[in-house]
Amino acid sequence: MKKFRGIFLKNDYEISLLREANQIVARILDDIEARIKPGISTMDLEERANDLCKEFNVRPAFRGYQGFPYTLCCSLNDVIVHGFPTQDELKEGDILSIDMGVQSRGFFGDSARTFAVGDISQEAGMLMQVTLDALHAGIQQARTGNDLYDISAAIERHAKKHNCSIIRRFVGHGIGARLHEKPEIPNFVPSRMPGVPLKKGMVLAIEPMFSLGSEHVEIMPDNWTAKTSDRSLAAHFEHTVAITKDGPEILSILDK
Ligand code: MG
Ligand code: MG
Repeated sequence: MKKFRGIFLKNDYEISLLREANQIVARILDDIEARIKPGISTMDLEERANDLCKEFNVRPAFRGYQGFPYTLCCSLNDVIVHGFPTQDELKEGDILSIDMGVQSRGFFGDSARTFAVGDISQEAGMLMQVTLDALHAGIQQARTGNDLYDISAAIERHAKKHNCSIIRRFVGHGIGARLHEKPEIPNFVPSRMPGVPLKKGMVLAIEPMFSLGSEHVEIMPDNWTAKTSDRSLAAHFEHTVAITKDGPEILSILDK
């Protein structure tokens, strides 16, 4: 595979395989979204995701990755990312972030969404909307002629405008035949590192994580679950995006 400054550039065939993997992730997340309501547990969702991976003949990408034990990351309320599915029932007013990845024919899909459980507070709804809008503002910058940090800047600007805190500890990433490739994509403009010119064929998993309070993270004793240090609500949205000659193509949204 061709590289530019250490970043793999995918050809059309490789992008078609990445599209296929990401479309499966989108289908699984759509299926799961329809099941989210008070009274069901995230372990129910985990089981459904496992069944769907079998049905689609794909391998769950997260299970076993650096020892992560599940197919889904289920991050409830003050959990930012990397939460475990549990038998606890979801409650009205919860917000649940689900991150899902698969490996299909050698290529990876990766996408995350935060879902409302029943009716949620106005501020929780605002946090979700701002995080989703920031993702799309970042995606709009994913085009040739721009710099990688134009993506970061758009996300950061949107968070600041709406007084949400950026969780700086976790970043987006390149994706391809590996789940995590270069470059890292921070959700803010780093002060030191130079950016990288964006090129056709780069495929990026862009994933803002915002909170209503602290930007600081506390890792729970399970060594995975990442909560906001002040236990404020957090949201997370992620899409895998290919840079094409015609601009950004979101691979993890279903072709309608
Ligand atoms: Mg992800
Ligand atoms: Mg990711």
